[in-house]
Amino acid sequence: MSQQGQEKYEESQLYRIRHSAAHIMAQAVLEMFPEGKISIGPPVENGFYYDFDLPRNLTPEDLEQIEKRMRQIIQGKYEFKKTVVSADEAKKIFENQPYKLELIEGLEKGGLDEYGNPLKERPDISVYQQDTFVDLCRGPHVQNTKEIKPDAFKLMNIAGAYWRGDEKNKMLQRIYGTAWEKADDLKQHLWKLEEAKKRDHRKLGKELDLFSVSEEVGAGLILWHPKGALIRVLVEDFSRNAHLENGYEWVFSPHIGRAQLWHTSGHLDFYKESMYAPMDIEGEDYYAKPMNCPFHIEIFKSHLRSYRDLPRRYAEYGTVYRYERSGVLHGLTRVRGFTQDDAHIFCRPDQVEEEINRALEFSLYVLRSMGLQEFRAYLSTRPEKYVGDPANWEKATEALRRAIEKHNLPYEVDEGGGAFYGPKIDLKVMDALDREWQLSTIQFDFNLPERFGLEYIGEDGKPHQPYMVHRALLGSMERFFGVLIEHFSGAFPVWLSPVQTMVIPIADRHLEYAREVLNKLRAEGIRVELDERAERMNAKIRDAQKQKIPYMLVIGDNEMAAGQVSLRVRDGGQQNNILLSDFLARAKDLIAKRAAEL
Ligand SMILES: [Zn+2]
Ligand SMILES: [Zn+2]
Repeated sequence: MSQQGQEKYEESQLYRIRHSAAHIMAQAVLEMFPEGKISIGPPVENGFYYDFDLPRNLTPEDLEQIEKRMRQIIQGKYEFKKTVVSADEAKKIFENQPYKLELIEGLEKGGLDEYGNPLKERPDISVYQQDTFVDLCRGPHVQNTKEIKPDAFKLMNIAGAYWRGDEKNKMLQRIYGTAWEKADDLKQHLWKLEEAKKRDHRKLGKELDLFSVSEEVGAGLILWHPKGALIRVLVEDFSRNAHLENGYEWVFSPHIGRAQLWHTSGHLDFYKESMYAPMDIEGEDYYAKPMNCPFHIEIFKSHLRSYRDLPRRYAEYGTVYRYERSGVLHGLTRVRGFTQDDAHIFCRPDQVEEEINRALEFSLYVLRSMGLQEFRAYLSTRPEKYVGDPANWEKATEALRRAIEKHNLPYEVDEGGGAFYGPKIDLKVMDALDREWQLSTIQFDFNLPERFGLEYIGEDGKPHQPYMVHRALLGSMERFFGVLIEHFSGAFPVWLSPVQTMVIPIADRHLEYAREVLNKLRAEGIRVELDERAERMNAKIRDAQKQKIPYMLVIGDNEMAAGQVSLRVRDGGQQNNILLSDFLARAKDLIAKRAAEL
């Protein structure tokens, strides 16, 4: 959640409901385990949790019992009463709760809140009570327990969590719950969770044979199988052509560079923990690249540039390597090597406005072409510590803001949230389950032009420093592919489907005509396969549907006699006895339009 989103959330009724549900859950747990110790229980995105130190491990049956008891407490319509207390009073109330005592000490010192987060000022110490349960808490809560609907919350699962997130501390038991204003909202949320499991790109990646990670090769390193690689080629080809048509120049750069380069760029000062150990080449250190920028800069520097040469827009599918702890690696979305669709724009001050506009317009065009429709922009502005001239920051930030507004994108501003080297726009897409994914970034840089001494000769005959913009569009090809798989649930638009049509003869006597159909489609550029197995038609259809192949052409006696086909589409639709030429025209039209829907 963004800073702004979080603040809005904290003021919402939903936040109070979840926070109150956490307290009610803690009451139910303490009734079950009177000797139990409670630690913290905040609302989180979509729900809440509470951490407990209990004499035995919780079971799923316990959760049912706790839920049941929670419903009874809710029915009791107990008020949530706030009392401000002194530190000594608080210590008395929680004398048998060592975790709370530790938190009270933190509050006393004025350093930490009841969740262990740093606080700017020393707050009042307050407790909230409902029924018999008292918690150290700054609120806010609902008025009374009945504001939580007994059919609009659910306890989800039990997990281990270290006290204060520190693995040197004791491992506690965390119960996660979810709570909503209405039963329907809960239902919708549970459906989304189920759907997300079905759409998990790691699961679909295996089922559809798209990619894998091999222990032999190493964690976080992706092997693209033929079908996944084909989709990547189609995306890359489309996007590369679009780049060329939009005034970008394509470049290639190596995977490693000398230590000196990364000293100049500052990566070895500021980014070293994300870089892999150097390799020695003839006594000199070389590093695998974590970013492509320095290479593009060197291309820019290879000539003396005049104001007439600008803007220069260099684009590359640049493969970079960044260290990630093995614990955080996740399918295609958190990896150790990935390919960015990276570009760097070098321009004059008077070109900034147009360049930013073009970059945003172009990003939206390519993303929409991929079947993504909903976007949200985040504008990050100048932080306290920054490099460069404040006037340049102002100009750049305003150019970003105007571009967002011109494209009517909903956006939030992260005031002071920019990198030290420049303001940026992050463009996030909402997928089919309303999940936000960050893909595109348009990022100014007032640091690297300085470090590399970039310049162009202006109209006045004097050297000037160009503006530099980093721009990634789909972001990482790996991550984007993960998003694409989950967004479409593996049922890619026809133009991206590795196999677009499966020809399904009903019996052996239809094989010859089926081959004819296969060859005709292939000649028209359709990616088509023939299922020659001696399986029943329904089994063949089922298998093709499982592979999410958009079209199945069933061929039996009637079809053969009339020179026709019967069409099945992957979502179950059916159309019998259509002319092959009609099917072809329709398929080609959808492919040409890159339509997301069949
Ligand atoms: Zn609380
Ligand atoms: Zn860059």
